[in-house]
Amino acid sequence: MSERQDVLVVGAGPAGLALAAALAATGVQVTLLEQQSRAALDEPADDGREIALTHRARQIMQRLGMWQRLDEAAVAPLREARVLDGDSPESLRFAATARGVDALGWLVPNHLIRRAALGTALSHPSVRLITDARVTALSTAGDQAGVTLADGRQLRATLVVAADSRLSGTRRLAGIGASMHDFGRSVVVGRVAHDKPHDGVAWECFRYGNTLALLPMNDNQASAVITVAGSRAPEWLALDDTAFAQRIEHQSDGRLGAMRAVGPRHHYPLVGVYARRFVAPRFALIGDAAVGMHPVTAHGYNFGLYGVEVLVREIERARRAGRDIGEIAVLQGYENEHRRVTLPVYLGTNAIVTLFTDERAPAKLARKAVLRISEGVPGLSSLIKAAVTRQLTGGGAPARPAAPSATTR
Ligand SMILES: Cc1cc2nc3c(=O)[nH]c(=O)nc-3n(C[C@H](O)[C@H](O)[C@H](O)COP(=O)(O)OP(=O)(O)OC[C@H]3O[C@@H](n4cnc5c(N)ncnc54)[C@H](O)[C@@H]3O)c2cc1C
Repeated sequence: MSERQDVLVVGAGPAGLALAAALAATGVQVTLLEQQSRAALDEPADDGREIALTHRARQIMQRLGMWQRLDEAAVAPLREARVLDGDSPESLRFAATARGVDALGWLVPNHLIRRAALGTALSHPSVRLITDARVTALSTAGDQAGVTLADGRQLRATLVVAADSRLSGTRRLAGIGASMHDFGRSVVVGRVAHDKPHDGVAWECFRYGNTLALLPMNDNQASAVITVAGSRAPEWLALDDTAFAQRIEHQSDGRLGAMRAVGPRHHYPLVGVYARRFVAPRFALIGDAAVGMHPVTAHGYNFGLYGVEVLVREIERARRAGRDIGEIAVLQGYENEHRRVTLPVYLGTNAIVTLFTDERAPAKLARKAVLRISEGVPGLSSLIKAAVTRQLTGGGAPARPAAPSATTR
């Protein structure tokens, strides 16, 4: 058994790393356990994910010193989002200017976030990183928690936090279930370069057959995010570059001019996951292990960062009061707040995604009605738009969960 740490964090993904940095900044001793090798963490591969970050997420990253580690040239402002349904020319628009800000949010490649998060966490002497360390057992009984690694090593701490992805094995070891929503669909992501400027506009096109999102990147490039039935993902992945670019150009009605594919394509099965509890005695869940969102609303990592902020605030408060940071009463404040913020958005996202990917006639009618009402009824339109832009730009808790979620990405 090694010496006892304050906190063991399982998983050095972007959420676990941000948590380690945030805890260390308040004087907590943290050990991060990661199953991947150190080389894989140092040079994270480009996984095709372009992460849309809200104003609140950016502020959290700035406070941690993470934002400053990002290459500015790789950060693309999102100035407006437009939603199109089927073959209808009508679009629902959300503009940054409506909120008096420059950008609704910013798009940053996931692998650069991972690298910045690693650098930030390791800049704190009180963060220890153990790689090639896969957690296979957990104990949380009594006045200390402990984990066992695949190689038999054991570590103990006052608190264990699992940040080991939406299919978290540590969550299962803690006996915490999760509700899972398998959309039966996959996203295929790939970059395209285009002739016309995108002006910082993200397009979400709910076509019949598949959904296409075009996310504005720098240098006249966009990330194409195609949502298709799981069985059709291999077909999209097998397209050669020319055929892929032509399909995207066609489905976006040539809005951005001629297109060329840039770099490889990646795909992700779509499964939303919501843990039944976020905390237990001496145990907490963070990041996707707590809330694994459908990516259409671009909330996943944003929620991860919000959770980090709240959990660290509760831990810091308890330490100041001389309390045991593993006590359930200390962790409960995080559970309550994070659930209040995330659950309505999680459920709303799932409902809207289901509606906008349903090809049956009544659903198609309902989709059109939702968009028409949203854009055409002045009071409702401004309410929905204000809620979406407020969520992105940071202006308090989400006012109307369902509608805003589905239309931002
Ligand atoms: C296509 C796509 C687009 C997205 N777009 C957005 C977006 O625009 N905005 C947004 O906010 N979010 C977005 N997301 C979500 C975002 O990528 C995730 O929320 C985020 O990466 C989750 O980070 P994490 O650290 O919780 O988990 P992960 O990144 O999954 O990291 C988990 C880590 O735990 C490690 N691990 C697992 N098991 C063990 C074990 N037993 N022992 C030790 N280590 C272990 C893994 O190796 C890994 O390093 C998107 C996701 C996808 C798929």
